[in-house]
Amino acid sequence: MKLKDKIAVITGATAGIGKATAEYFAREGCNLVLIARRVERLEALKSTLEEKYKVKVFIGKVDVSDFSQCEAFFNSLPDELKAPDILVNNAGLAYGMEKLIEKPVEDIDKMFDVNVKGLIYITNLFVPQMVKKGKGSIVNVGSIAGREVYPGGNVYCATKHAVKALSRALRIELVDTPLRVIEIAPGLVETEFSVVRFKGDKEKAANVYKGLTPLYPEDIADLILYTVTRPPHVQINEVIIMPTNQATTTIIHRENNE
Ligand code: NAP
Repeated sequence: MKLKDKIAVITGATAGIGKATAEYFAREGCNLVLIARRVERLEALKSTLEEKYKVKVFIGKVDVSDFSQCEAFFNSLPDELKAPDILVNNAGLAYGMEKLIEKPVEDIDKMFDVNVKGLIYITNLFVPQMVKKGKGSIVNVGSIAGREVYPGGNVYCATKHAVKALSRALRIELVDTPLRVIEIAPGLVETEFSVVRFKGDKEKAANVYKGLTPLYPEDIADLILYTVTRPPHVQINEVIIMPTNQATTTIIHRENNE
């Protein structure tokens, strides 16, 4: 088992990429601290993973965009969980596809609060303890939206460009430590992401993945597992991963596309 008795903190663990990563890590013997807002899902995942893989799972109902919630949860953890071997900053979302000048202010705030500020809050709580421990991997889930900009992507793209900038900044600042900073930048992954983006409109969400085989959350979990299990002298800085029929955010080959 590649992660036996290690500890990983994963944000956004109740769905999609975070949930798949929790399962991939648990299968490798990793104990987990899982963070998200939907506590019933966290509880269900905890009991499934503990039973199936005999690992310890600690859960936190935390909105990462609220620093006081992040801090209270962090302070409630036993010391060994405050210094994980792996931190996966995955929680994130997009709202809408409106033009920038038509974007509702609450959607703008939410995307920046979760995708950027939430990532910084969680990083700033856990990473100092990882530095003290003298080892660890930080994985930030960015996006190809952090490399390109597409129509309607405006604010979401800005937040993911920020994730890239923050990952690069942290890598520079931790260069004299054994810690490594890894950014994973996926293209289309079929998760709850599009249902959230279209505020529950499942038909619109399904259209995003229509006519192509998208990536699945397990593909990203597999990649994250690969990056964190390299030898300690190897740091995979950034990985862009897309479905085979996607070349850019907008150039996508779809079968039977009328
Ligand atoms: P998802 O299925 O919607 O999962 C998102 C996760 O984030 C959920 O567990 C959600 O849990 C959590 N979350 C959202 N807001 C949160 C908050 N305020 N506090 C704590 N947790 C929060 O979407 P996904 O595709 O797996 O997204 C994971 C990451 O991948 C995101 O950063 C996203 O930007 C990135 N990404 C996705 C794609 C894609 O095509 N799907 C492509 C590139 C990058 P709760 O609702 O329970 O809080």
